[in-house]
Amino acid sequence: MSRILFFNIPAHGHTNPTLGVVRELVRRGHQVWYYSYEPMREKIEDTGAAFIACDSFDRERHLSAKDAARVGKDLAFSVEILTDTTLALNEMVRRDVGRFKPDCIVADSMAVWGKAAALKYGIPFVSSTTTFAFNQYSSKIMGRRMREAFAFLLAMPKVGRQIKRLKNHGYPIKNVLDILQNDNDTHTIVYTSPEFQPCAETFSDKYAFVGASVRPAREEIVKTRDKLLYISMGTVNNDMLPFYEQCIRALAGTDYQVVLSVGNAVDVRKLEELAECLRAGNLRAGSLRADSLSEEIYADITVYREVDQIGVLKKADVFLSHCGMNSVNESLYFGVPLVLLPQTSEQRGVARRAAELGAGILLERAEPAAVLKAVRRVMEEKAFRENAGKISEGFRTCGGAERAADKILEVCGQ
Ligand code: UDP
Repeated sequence: MSRILFFNIPAHGHTNPTLGVVRELVRRGHQVWYYSYEPMREKIEDTGAAFIACDSFDRERHLSAKDAARVGKDLAFSVEILTDTTLALNEMVRRDVGRFKPDCIVADSMAVWGKAAALKYGIPFVSSTTTFAFNQYSSKIMGRRMREAFAFLLAMPKVGRQIKRLKNHGYPIKNVLDILQNDNDTHTIVYTSPEFQPCAETFSDKYAFVGASVRPAREEIVKTRDKLLYISMGTVNNDMLPFYEQCIRALAGTDYQVVLSVGNAVDVRKLEELAECLRAGNLRAGSLRADSLSEEIYADITVYREVDQIGVLKKADVFLSHCGMNSVNESLYFGVPLVLLPQTSEQRGVARRAAELGAGILLERAEPAAVLKAVRRVMEEKAFRENAGKISEGFRTCGGAERAADKILEVCGQ
């Protein structure tokens, strides 16, 4: 039996793909301790792993809204926060490593404290990467800009101070890239297929492209119309009330079933009222006007805070997505083509790749006429579903959670 420590950040998108892998390791009789955060507790415990809460060590949760917005954008500040978290966890991890004697540490590529601990205690390490794998070739395709490279150089003196803090606590880190980036010598699990990953051939055989790691559906949605459109902007930056309103206006006059998952930040009632108002034809001239609304044809629109996305995708015909890597992976796993509305540079990279392979189209403008046109096109042109189906086949032959578990156990045995 092997003993494995998992580290992750408090994000569903980074946690979900690991759940199947952990479940598989536990099923094979191995012991897993999973360091994460209370909102993830239930789904992690459900895999059979021991959950260890890191909430009280999380520096990010105590930031002002202004500082929180800097994380991920301001490199020096981000490294400072990562260093603070690593040092806050230092004592607990030291004690647990001594007690548990792990054969391997697996850490999300953003939970750098896991990689730092592996380096400090000389424990074999596997990176769990829920985005595309990143190197000099893929970064070009993914559209990382020169501006970002300059910002990186400018931040170096401040970053150097944080690296020194880590060194002072026994972390053998020479350079920020030691923890922020994986080289060709780092064992890395990537939850996509070699066909979908840009420049897959430029990565070493230490990289395992295992395909989308899709958890089982908890509940399946009942299909009420011939065509089902699913809309979600993910779980992080989903406070987009005006966009959801545009979608309802755009789609009210169709005969689609529309499942809209909006998260906790927006007022669901407002959206339900808008849909109901349009449905009842209770329109004030010039305000809530839906295109071609009629008595007979009206979309079946349901607004949810959260859905079982896997259950919905099993039945969906098209997914209008913010292009988080997991959402796109999950959609393509079920052969569902996409209307792509990326919000960040990383999501733009994922969207471009899906569009390049013909599995969806980019939404030019988030306004009703453009939404309706894009959705209709992806619903009606067969090629989108065929191309999504080809990517799905690739995903299903790369081994998924079982292959990821094999990879971790191979590293445990070294
Ligand atoms: N998700 C879900 N129900 C929802 C919305 C999202 O289960 O109503 C899940 C989805 O299946 C995916 C994750 O949340 O696994 C979102 O991850 P992604 O990388 O797509 O985007 P993020 O939320 O990180 O921006």
